[in-house]
Amino acid sequence: MKKTALLVLLAFCISNLTAQKTIIWCGTLIDGVNNDAKNNMTIVVEKNKITAVVNGFSVAAAGDKTIDLKTKTVMPGWIDCHVHTESETKKGNVADKFIYNTADVAFESLQYVNVTLMTGFTTVRDLGGSGINISLRNAINKGLVIGPRIFTAGKSIATTGGHADPTNGYRKDLMGDPGPKEGVINGVEDAYHAVRQRYKDGSDLIKITATGGVLSQAKDGANAQFTEDEIKAIVTAAKDYNFKVAAHAHGAEGIKRAIRGGVNSIEHGTFMDDEGIALMKQYGTWLVSTITAGKSTADSAKIPGYYSEIVTPKALATGPQIQNTFAKAYKAGVKIAFGTDAGVFKHGLNWLEFGYMIEAGMPPMEAIKAATINAADLLGMKTQLGSIEINKLADIIAVDGDPLKDAKVFGKVVFVMKDGTVFKNGKG
Ligand SMILES: [Zn+2]
Repeated sequence: MKKTALLVLLAFCISNLTAQKTIIWCGTLIDGVNNDAKNNMTIVVEKNKITAVVNGFSVAAAGDKTIDLKTKTVMPGWIDCHVHTESETKKGNVADKFIYNTADVAFESLQYVNVTLMTGFTTVRDLGGSGINISLRNAINKGLVIGPRIFTAGKSIATTGGHADPTNGYRKDLMGDPGPKEGVINGVEDAYHAVRQRYKDGSDLIKITATGGVLSQAKDGANAQFTEDEIKAIVTAAKDYNFKVAAHAHGAEGIKRAIRGGVNSIEHGTFMDDEGIALMKQYGTWLVSTITAGKSTADSAKIPGYYSEIVTPKALATGPQIQNTFAKAYKAGVKIAFGTDAGVFKHGLNWLEFGYMIEAGMPPMEAIKAATINAADLLGMKTQLGSIEINKLADIIAVDGDPLKDAKVFGKVVFVMKDGTVFKNGKG
C-alpha cells in the first residue's frame, strides 16, 4: 500500500474513533411514542442517528457539539403524507402546463421543498406530479437541494378522463390517448404496465385517483373511476415491487372499491359513508384527510376567477365536508396519518392541519403521533423514522411554546435537524 493511502486510511480510522457527537438539551421532549411529554432531557446524535436519549442535561465531552433547546419543545421531525412538490396554487393557472417547461417547474419546486423543511416537515410523500418529483428527491438525497426526504409516487395513475388523466380538458387535437406509460390505464393488463412503468421511472409508491377530484378540468368531483378488478390488479402488481398504494378518493362508492381492492391509504375520504368507515376499520386502511386542502380550496373558490368554471362548484361542495368526515372517522377509530395536500394551498402552511385535526376532536398528542410515528408506519419506515428513540434517523425539530396547549405553536418551528444535519437553529 502506498504511504499516502495508508495515511488517509489512518486518518479515517481516527476520525471514526473520535466521531463528534451532537448533544441536544430539550426543555420538553415529545418523543412520538410516549403519551406524556418529558422535561429536561438530552438527545445524543452521532452522524445521522440518535444514539442516546437520557434524563437531565448531559455535559458534552471535548470536541462534541451542544445545542441548547432548554426553553423549547422538541419532537420528531414531522411527516406530511400528502404533498405535491411540483406546484403551488395561484389564481387562474389553468394554462400553466402549456407555458411551463420542465426546468421551470423544477426551479420553482426548490422554494417549495425548502419552506417545507424549514417549517418542520423532515419527510413528505409526494402524491403525484409529472416525474420531476423523482429528480427532486434524488437531488435532495445527493445534498444538492435543501428539502425534506421525499417518498414519491412520480406520476399518479388514473383511467381515461379520470382525475389524473394529464390531458383532461384539452382541445381534442391535443388530447391524444395517453396510456399506462403516462399513468392512464383501462383494464387489468394496463394496470400492471402502469405500475411497472412507475418502478422503471424510480417511484417509491403508487398513487391512484380512485374517484373524480376537485382541481381537474372534469365535471364530476366524486364519481368512481376504477373497477374493483383494476384496483386489485394495481395493488397486486405494486406488491411485487414493495410499493404501497395511496388512493385519492372523495365519493363513497370509489372509497369502498379502493378499500376492498387493498390500498394502504384513502386520501381525502370526503363523502365516506358509515359502510366505508366500517370497511376502513376492517381492512386497517389509513385515512389521510387533507383538511387544510378542503378549507383552502373552498376559500379560493369564493374569489372570482380563481378556478375555472368547471372547478369552482366542486371546490365549494367538497372542501367544507372534509373536516366533518375526519371527525367522524377519528371518533369511529379509523387509523389516521397526517397529510395536507400542500401545493393545493401554499407550501409552508402544512402545520395548519394540526389545528384543524384538534378542532375536529383529536387530542394534540394524537395529532403529533399522526404526523410522526403513525405516518412513518404508513410509509413502511416505522423502524427508522417517526420517533426519538435509539437507532432512529436523527430527524428532530423544536417549536417555541407548548403545542399541547396552543395549536398556533405548530407554526413556530425554531429548530430543524434532518438526517443528523442542522438546517435551522433560531428563528431564521
Ligand atoms: Zn393531492
